[in-house]
Amino acid sequence: MTLTVGSTIDSTEIRVRQDIPAVLGTRVPLVTGGETGYANLDHAASAPCLAAVRDAVDAFLPWYASAHRGAGFASQVSTRVYERAREVLRKFAGARDRDTVIFTRNTTDALNLLARALPRHTSVVLFDTEHHAALLPWRGPNVVRIPAPRTRLAAVAAVERALAGCPAGPRLVVLTGASNVTGETLPVAEIAAVARRHGARTALDAAQLAPHRPISLTGLDVDYVVLSGHKLYAPFGAGALIGRADWLRAATPYLAGGGATKAVTRHETGVGVTWHTGPERHEAGSPNIVGVHALAVACEQLGAHWDALEAHEHALLERLRAGLAAVPGLAELRLFDDESDRTGTVSFTLDGFEPGWLSAVLSAEYGIGVRDGAFCAHIATRRLAGQGAQAVRVSLGLGTTEEHIDRLVLALRQIVARGARWTYGRPAGRWAPVPDPRPLPPFLAG
Ligand code: PMP
Repeated sequence: MTLTVGSTIDSTEIRVRQDIPAVLGTRVPLVTGGETGYANLDHAASAPCLAAVRDAVDAFLPWYASAHRGAGFASQVSTRVYERAREVLRKFAGARDRDTVIFTRNTTDALNLLARALPRHTSVVLFDTEHHAALLPWRGPNVVRIPAPRTRLAAVAAVERALAGCPAGPRLVVLTGASNVTGETLPVAEIAAVARRHGARTALDAAQLAPHRPISLTGLDVDYVVLSGHKLYAPFGAGALIGRADWLRAATPYLAGGGATKAVTRHETGVGVTWHTGPERHEAGSPNIVGVHALAVACEQLGAHWDALEAHEHALLERLRAGLAAVPGLAELRLFDDESDRTGTVSFTLDGFEPGWLSAVLSAEYGIGVRDGAFCAHIATRRLAGQGAQAVRVSLGLGTTEEHIDRLVLALRQIVARGARWTYGRPAGRWAPVPDPRPLPPFLAG
């Protein structure tokens, strides 16, 4: 692939409505010459940074210092920033007083931490259509991966049946709030109620739900929530596990090291360690204060604008689905036959077109960013996309405008009608324009 460095592509802020927080946008080059505003339709993978998050990080950076251990004033400010973020996340997730907030790198990290903290012989029940981050961390003979049923009602009943068949002992249901493949939401409160009746706890994977809908541990009566900052418009490497403290307090620390320890002493045969019992127990090492601050600011921003966000997304999703429905040969993927609330994520296949090729063309010729493949949910995508086991995913968010959607729909219609205008190959195993004359941004020069 030939990439030339050196164009001037200015950053822009996108504010779609006055009552919706602005996000950072950019312009991208086209293979056919010139450039265009980037139509980022890949929010479900990683959302762009909120302008308010960028500003908050900028304001904090001069004060950045180590948290918890420093006597310097900046250290105290940093500690305050870090601990304030716990309170913000607690509120954002509708946590109960006794719930703990543990900062992690992302949702994957949070779910792996929870998996390590389960009491021995915990039975774990989940659908096989979960994202790999939720599907894979659980070990042992008592993990039940239920083939996902075709209706939401049947999904609740399937969890109930699986729990009834679990051996005595601790139980956990793991459930995504919204599918990262289809955007369909799951009946979380109903499943949590069933879990409760069967003495099970529920862990909600809110990676895809939290950027789109208010979540509440209390309201949904779930026990744990996990989420990622980079999907919440705060791409600075922080995520969180929020929920009941008891299993976590009793568990072996996730990482062994400084920050997690109260005291370490030398014995003749080794060292003795007294571990913290609070969230620090699982946060060894220097914490990501900038990331955690960014995440908290993003949560505050979203929390203050839910009505506008949902209305905006709803209108865009209708426009998108209506537009896609009119593209010949296009089939939308669905988990459930019955209607459910949906976040702004739609995956589809297009007869006669490979998803990877299609997304390369959308990027190169139209300046549109979408995702193709199986979305780290291989079982779900294979089941829904059929033969090819791959699809194209379009996901909306705060940076999405009507123009982005119209551009996508028009592009798909043009591609179906007359194919691509450029040549494409698989130089590195992925479809890409060949040659690729698009210049990289100047900061990548050298
Ligand atoms: N769960 C779901 C539903 C997701 O969509 C994702 C990310 N695609 C994850 C978990 C994992 O999130 P992360 O990559 O931030 O750890």
